Amino acid sequence: MKKNIAILGSTGSIGTQALQVIDKLSDKFNVVGLSAGNNISLLTEQIKKYSPKWVCTASKDFAMVLKKTFNNINIVYGDEGLNEIAALKEINLLLVAVSGKIGLKPTITAIKNKKDIALANKETLVMAGDIVMKLAKENNVKILPVDSEHSAIFQCLSNRSEVNRLIITSSGGPFRNSTIEEMEKADLSEALAHPRWKMGRKITVDSATLMNKGLEVIEAHHLFDISYDDIKVVVHPQSYIHSAVEYVDGSIIAQIGIPSMHIPIQYALTYPERTRGVETESFDFIKAAKFEFYEPDLIKFPSLALAIKAGKTKGTATVCLNAANEEAVFAFLEKKINFLDIYKITKSVYDNYKPIQNPSLEQILSEDELIRKITQEKINNMRQR
Ligand code: NDP
Ligand code: MG
Repeated sequence: MKKNIAILGSTGSIGTQALQVIDKLSDKFNVVGLSAGNNISLLTEQIKKYSPKWVCTASKDFAMVLKKTFNNINIVYGDEGLNEIAALKEINLLLVAVSGKIGLKPTITAIKNKKDIALANKETLVMAGDIVMKLAKENNVKILPVDSEHSAIFQCLSNRSEVNRLIITSSGGPFRNSTIEEMEKADLSEALAHPRWKMGRKITVDSATLMNKGLEVIEAHHLFDISYDDIKVVVHPQSYIHSAVEYVDGSIIAQIGIPSMHIPIQYALTYPERTRGVETESFDFIKAAKFEFYEPDLIKFPSLALAIKAGKTKGTATVCLNAANEEAVFAFLEKKINFLDIYKITKSVYDNYKPIQNPSLEQILSEDELIRKITQEKINNMRQR
């Protein structure tokens, strides 16, 4: 039987690669829903190709434009629109591939409606991992990781009680070999020049500060219910080992392959099956030749340590980390601040914040809003100086 899938963020890096996977496996999937932010021309092409029953855009204006061309499709918009798609009776699987905090609410809606989730959006677990994982358990819903490291761990994990620790690999990002002085002067194009992965702009900047790795540690803590002290980050510039699980007997099971997001996306979509898909070439160990490993440099990349500290602090500490970082990254993308200011701002907002323990979803969302305002003020003050 075909799976009915809806994709939130179909015009993004993950969304478009997911559609490439679906193109190869068209006998396995019906695309029932698509959603985009502002890229209406690509969304229009996707609607023509996949004929979804439901479509969501970020704004009402875009929805109105699409309604003129596609009058037989349900076109919704905004956060409410994402929620409507997440709740659709006819979908079995929701791919959450929007970036940032907007992924949280539709993920929760889908879980409450007993839809399995292919989760790319890491901010969801960083903001509300306890609530999301508890709800998933209560509703017997699968959270299938799309993030390559978490897909790797998911694939290597068998008996949870025999796990000693998780090893999360990191490419080290574009500034792995740069000095702090070089990073101070780094412009947007340098920060966006990721050596291994072609991704959306927010996650690419997070990969340059290594905040992305910190968010992934928090994501892994929630997904696999493992303590922070049992998660080890290792820099592996080649990105062939996507992550690994070390068992109590000393055995390490790693997931290896070419650095391609098609593979983890596909596994989340076809789980529990494996099937031939977009990537058909065998991994060439001889050509790969070198597998290097380094300790992450926490002096150059303090964001990683800050994220782990926030994770251990629990409660809304990670909401603060995520919101302050997201706002600072947006400011860097708009060329309002320098690369190293992203950490300085995030750290300063974080240090002045008192986290709430065991927050409700409402508290998470209101704290998120408050922290964003504080961060924006800080950015504006910094620019006026
Ligand atoms: P992109 O920026 O490439 O794509 C984001 C998607 O979200 C786009 O479709 C965009 O629409 C949509 N979107 C953005 N803002 C809104 C909004 N306000 N309302 C509705 N839709 C919106 O990001 P990525 O695909 O790179 O990343 C998506 C998520 O997956 C992130 O959380 C990231 O951390 C995670 N992830 C990504 C990986 C990757 O390889 N790219 C790897 C692992 C995790 P539009 O473009 O039309 O404006
Ligand atoms: Mg990743």
